[in-house]
Amino acid sequence: MAYHQGIEARHYASRVIVRESLGRICLRELRHRFSKAKMKTPPYDHVCQVGDPILRGESSPVNPRQIKSAEVQNAIKMMTKVMRSAGAVGCAAPQVGMAKQIVVMEFTKEHMESLEKEVQKAREVTVFPLKVFINPELKVIDPRIVTLLEGCLSISGYDACVPRAYGVELSGLNELGQPVTWSTTGYSARIVQHEMDHLRGKLFIDIMDSSTFVDKEWPRWNLK
Ligand SMILES: [Zn+2]
Repeated sequence: MAYHQGIEARHYASRVIVRESLGRICLRELRHRFSKAKMKTPPYDHVCQVGDPILRGESSPVNPRQIKSAEVQNAIKMMTKVMRSAGAVGCAAPQVGMAKQIVVMEFTKEHMESLEKEVQKAREVTVFPLKVFINPELKVIDPRIVTLLEGCLSISGYDACVPRAYGVELSGLNELGQPVTWSTTGYSARIVQHEMDHLRGKLFIDIMDSSTFVDKEWPRWNLK
């Protein structure tokens, strides 16, 4: 375990030896360390990493009248750009620093071709074009649980097996403000649930099978 300075809160009276409220001490230290640094303004052209409070908050709905505004359109463009440059299949607004209910997702032919046939079949992956959902609502339409390997741009370098419902229906507004509904199963349904969790401040590590949590390139640590 990495040693972390500055954690002194000990409550011997109870059975709790150390209990920190969600990173408050760390946050104070971090803010102090970076207080003089120049910070970017959201939407970021990078992905926020676990520990960033934006990833743990609830996102607010977008006013439908604002969908065509430069602010919302820029956010969608940036999320798509960030997702694509990372080779990812989804991105939620909090990941680029905006606590707004917007998600983008896509599964390309290139994504498909990067997977072995066996994996394609086991994961039930399907190609789908870019989908933008604003103020999305999720309904589980097939509650059977499938547990498969999953990663997140905000937990860079790690994967774990995560249980998800097999089939879902997602409704919301698209980038033009038109109502859209998407019913899907298999891996696409997993992507939907993963991105929806981001809008509620949830990460896959909250529901993963923790014994399967892996450094994606763990053998490299053993290289000579
Ligand atoms: Zn994620």
